[in-house]
Amino acid sequence: MIQRTATRIEARPIDHADHSWQRLLSESVTTPDALLRRLDLDPTTWLHGADKGHRLFPIRVPEPYLSRIARGDPDDPLLRQVLPLSSEAETYPGFVSDPLQESGSMPATGLIRKYDSRALLMVTGQCAINCRYCFRRHFPYEDHRLSPEDRAQALKALSDDTRINEVIFSGGDPLVANDRLLSAWAEALAAIPHIRRLRVHTRLPVVIPQRVSDSLIKWLSGSRLQAVVVIHVNHPAELDADTQRALGRLKAAGVTLLNQSVILKGVNDSTRVLTELSERLFECGVLPYYLHAFDPVAGAHHFEVSDDKARELVRQLITVLPGFLVPRLVREIPGRPGKTPLDLFA
Ligand SMILES: *Cc1c(COP(=O)(O)O)cnc(C)c1O
Ligand code: SF4
Repeated sequence: MIQRTATRIEARPIDHADHSWQRLLSESVTTPDALLRRLDLDPTTWLHGADKGHRLFPIRVPEPYLSRIARGDPDDPLLRQVLPLSSEAETYPGFVSDPLQESGSMPATGLIRKYDSRALLMVTGQCAINCRYCFRRHFPYEDHRLSPEDRAQALKALSDDTRINEVIFSGGDPLVANDRLLSAWAEALAAIPHIRRLRVHTRLPVVIPQRVSDSLIKWLSGSRLQAVVVIHVNHPAELDADTQRALGRLKAAGVTLLNQSVILKGVNDSTRVLTELSERLFECGVLPYYLHAFDPVAGAHHFEVSDDKARELVRQLITVLPGFLVPRLVREIPGRPGKTPLDLFA
């Protein structure tokens, strides 16, 4: 491992570059019309709402994800996560644009520090898929890119604070960034002695499995830092054979794989689906980590699951799954030192 003083992040050429994922990303469906046509949904019923929601938060779905959605079924649980509805424009008391109050804990541009031992690095603002329930829908991150100066400052903040032992690549989706940039980050972080782990929060191995390229494996597993990838899957049908293979490659490279889900009405608000999700994740080499309680994000009212219902679902999971396949039901509460578990037996 080359140890050098970390001052600047510069992209360097890398072998085995594999760009097929970038093509899939650029060919994503990004209009209501194309989405409905691709999935055989009747425009007279769905176009008006899709247009309305799309104007609030644009559609973005890559083909590998579309290929897992049943055609002509408006209730498909994967479709529900990406199809805009007219109700997104309605307002409800308590449904706000920034429930996590993300703004306000940034020691450097692109660095979010809420917890003592770990810091989130917003590598890129872009996502590969736009999920209708996401709080990100209210921030026009799309064009937000860290300048070389921002990157140097973030790196300095991370070097200066010896309490930080884990850096989390976040976004947007950090794996939208290319491997040259990411490998430069990984190398610079590995040169900071107090950092032990590199974690990546991403939906890309699921949404575009081709993203798990040779060059990704190389920087992620070739570092002094222990690698953890936390994927985001809400329904077992998101895990097809290609995704399983991509996850298998990460696993074979020594990466620890975890999953986080959000509890969502009409997607995974049943014991049967959550049980099958855990079982399917384990088949793919992934352990369930967090099940996020619903956050009242403006525009996502149609996904609301009450905390009582969520607790009941997890109590049922405990009876049918081994403990290691039961995700922790948590919520992010501003000001707390970590995620807050919901008390299942309160
Ligand atoms: C969720 C979160 C983390 C990671 O928390 P873990 O409990 O370690 O998974 C880190 N920083 C921020 C700002 C977060 O919201
Ligand atoms: S941040 Fe995650 S949940 Fe939100 S839109 Fe991007 S991929 Fe979807």
